[in-house]
Amino acid sequence: MVEALSPGLYIVAGPIGNLSDLSPRAADILCRADVVAVEDSRVSARLLRHAGSDRPMLPYHDHSDEAVRARLVARMEGEAVALLSDAGTPLISDPGYKLVRDARAAGRAVTTIPGPCAAVAALTVSGLPTDRFLFMGFLPAKAKARGDALAEVAGLRASLVFYESGPRLSASLSDMVLALGDREACVAREITKLHEEARTGMLSDLARHYADAPPKGEIVVVVGPPGETPAATEADADALLVAALGRLSVGKAASEVAKATGLDRRTLYARALEIRAISSRMETSGGSEIAATIKEGQ
Ligand code: SAM
Repeated sequence: MVEALSPGLYIVAGPIGNLSDLSPRAADILCRADVVAVEDSRVSARLLRHAGSDRPMLPYHDHSDEAVRARLVARMEGEAVALLSDAGTPLISDPGYKLVRDARAAGRAVTTIPGPCAAVAALTVSGLPTDRFLFMGFLPAKAKARGDALAEVAGLRASLVFYESGPRLSASLSDMVLALGDREACVAREITKLHEEARTGMLSDLARHYADAPPKGEIVVVVGPPGETPAATEADADALLVAALGRLSVGKAASEVAKATGLDRRTLYARALEIRAISSRMETSGGSEIAATIKEGQ
């Protein structure tokens, strides 16, 4: 006979890819909870099978209506409710914050069973400073909001950690160069899985690398703190201007790149005008290799 768990909420971290990373304590809680609140029951069913648990599942999201949350909090008075995410630690870019908030407000016991988290795992392999870091989660999808979110943290002397998707990776890395300046960074992909990789380099190099081949799988980007990077070159400035002119007027593009690189704004403005002229010549002639033409110095 398995001993019953004391009532309350149990926040259970699961693996981020490799099932063997489920801790024995997490497996034990999943086997003994009265109910397991999950994001997607198909994903969690696999983990529960792996843990040897036959406990019932209930769907839970922070946008579940208040009544669903209130029922779960009421159950915690006499039952053990485990909270499980599709991957990693609940509440970290995943549901749970409102449930924990309400459980605590109702005086329920809240226990955490810590384990894998992609943000922390990426930091550990990045080779970038870990003494101070800021978890940024997913950047906004819209370019303006993304630029604003990055500008807000550009001056922080801390490593920055972002969750990202393959198709958006290169654009996000270019936006980071513009808003943060070129810095050392690491793209950690498919951590703990078969095709695990951690690629390090300057943000601008990583942006170029992934522009040609958007990667598959799950991704964390870690960006080092500002300050120890070499001054931007003219080639860097050209690449940044091309990217900025895709979104902004000549004046605004020059200002943004001047801020990111520390280069002279008037020189950048003149160069942006040249780039725009080349780009419209190429559009008329049907070409699209703007960057290549610029490199050839036309
Ligand atoms: N709660 C999870 C945690 O503790 O890391 C994060 C959930 S969030 C919805 C999913 C994002 O985490 C993915 O889009 C990716 O950015 C990152 N991620 C999750 N697993 C990963 C892995 N194995 N390798 C790299 N990134 C991962």
